[in-house]
Amino acid sequence: MPGKTLIAVPLVEASPPLAEQAASALRAGAQVIELRVDRIGDLGAVEQFLRRERRLPVIATVRAASEGGSWTGPENDRLAFLARLARRRPDYLDVEYATWVSAPPELRTAAAELRGTGGRLILSHHDTVGARADFASLHARIAAAGADVVKIVFTAGDATDGLRLLTGLAQVGAQRPTIALAMGSPGLATRVLAGRFAAHLTFAALSPDAGSAPGQPSLAELRVLYRWDESGPETAVYGVVGWPVGHSLGPQVHNAALRATGQDAVYVPLPVRPDEAGFENFMQVLADHPELGVAGLSITLPHKEHALRWLERAGMPVTDVARRCRAVNTLTRTAAGRWAGDNTDVDGIVAALAGVSALAGSGLGGRRVAVLGAGGAARAAVVALQERGCDVTVYNRTAERAARLAHELRCAFGPWPARGGGWDARGPAALGQSAPAAVGAEIARADILINCTSVGLWPAENDAPVPDDLLRPGAIVFDTVYNPPETRLLRAARARGCTVIPGAAMFIGQAAAQIERWHGVPAPRPIMEAALAAALSH
Ligand code: NAP
Repeated sequence: MPGKTLIAVPLVEASPPLAEQAASALRAGAQVIELRVDRIGDLGAVEQFLRRERRLPVIATVRAASEGGSWTGPENDRLAFLARLARRRPDYLDVEYATWVSAPPELRTAAAELRGTGGRLILSHHDTVGARADFASLHARIAAAGADVVKIVFTAGDATDGLRLLTGLAQVGAQRPTIALAMGSPGLATRVLAGRFAAHLTFAALSPDAGSAPGQPSLAELRVLYRWDESGPETAVYGVVGWPVGHSLGPQVHNAALRATGQDAVYVPLPVRPDEAGFENFMQVLADHPELGVAGLSITLPHKEHALRWLERAGMPVTDVARRCRAVNTLTRTAAGRWAGDNTDVDGIVAALAGVSALAGSGLGGRRVAVLGAGGAARAAVVALQERGCDVTVYNRTAERAARLAHELRCAFGPWPARGGGWDARGPAALGQSAPAAVGAEIARADILINCTSVGLWPAENDAPVPDDLLRPGAIVFDTVYNPPETRLLRAARARGCTVIPGAAMFIGQAAAQIERWHGVPAPRPIMEAALAAALSH
């Protein structure tokens, strides 16, 4: 357990019986039970549970609707309920700070009696919209009002808000037991890292659909995926920065690798607002607060170019490969506020091709390669394959983008095959180059075809970027899309006798290169592959 931070499991329904739910929570590793009486609704069931012998400490609360709760009855009834609950001697009574400052004598007396017998008063503040109060002064006001435990819950717009909340916790947590969490999926890191910042407790749901607040992880996610039991105040923080990142399987793959190699580190999703200013604000918070302990970042859409420009402006090192790709997918902290940028998508592409036995003898030199797409993945493919002596041509739906990429990286480009096997009118001819006589044959003649578009990505998994008849038997067809694991393109290619390379091979290759750069250990590829396969099968 990190520090003394406890895991509290909220109970939000009367059925199955509360005692049964509490027993399941205890078995699953909960250390505290929270009775959300506003959600449970059945005060009789709650009182009966509190009268029985309890095997875990209990928080009792009746959350007001104005603070994100489900109570819809008269306020006087809620206050009377809270006083009645206090007399049942829960271990903690949670009252909203806004309620407490004008609480009726009956509730204050009941809370004082509870505290007289060792019970603790949590005074809480929940901002269901944002983070509109200053954390430090709000904390001071709540503590001064007599809270044994201060609870401040904000709503995070992005991971930057969440990290700011954790810096506030780091400053005041030693003064008074404090719970500081951010609601919403961008706040996940505040819940997972609560132990690192010595919060009094964090909340986790008994099952994925039994949470009491948006963004709350399940107990299994917290303990297994996010390594709660193995983490402590010195645990280094790594993560994936993008927008959105909820779908990223980086946490599954990286945390499996961290566990297998015995690193004191955890890897979390960090959704950062999509504009360049959003990225800069995030990096500024890390620079201002080295105590956050963030040591390495995977960078994904739309921040790969933002990261490159940010490093270049700050005069921080960037590898030649990342510069040629115009994209940084890996940031490594080299000193407080100092970072180095790299691109391991290139390593991922090379690693995926290295596993193909058809290339084992003769290698990649001189191979004709058709790259579909002109975004970040396509750039990485062009850079990787040119460096290995391939003859690369780029094809993209938006011809101007293909032309720009071809110009910058000095490769050829061709016209995009329209649906139904026809050809887009734009292409080299439209852009001032002479079009080959039989453009349709060009892609089909390639030794290696790499899909670097997002066509075929879940949920549009029945789409393919090119007509099946362009898949030449004997060619190597590599789809960088890894969700689903077997795309429509790869199914068609396999059926036509091509050698296929799934996007998972690239995903593992780029993540493995990050593990090796960050931790200086060989990446446990089979374990990472198994973690990815398990995540994709859910
Ligand atoms: P990006 O920069 O946004 O580029 C997207 C590319 O897809 C552009 O070339 C775009 O063409 C094309 N495209 C999108 N929708 C299309 C459609 N309906 N028809 C034809 N072309 C279409 O994204 P990226 O970073 O390069 O990533 C692209 C894909 O690569 C991702 O979806 C991901 O699956 C894969 N990827 C995999 C890994 C891995 O580790 N396996 C790593 C990175 C990326 P326009 O220019 O015409 O818009």
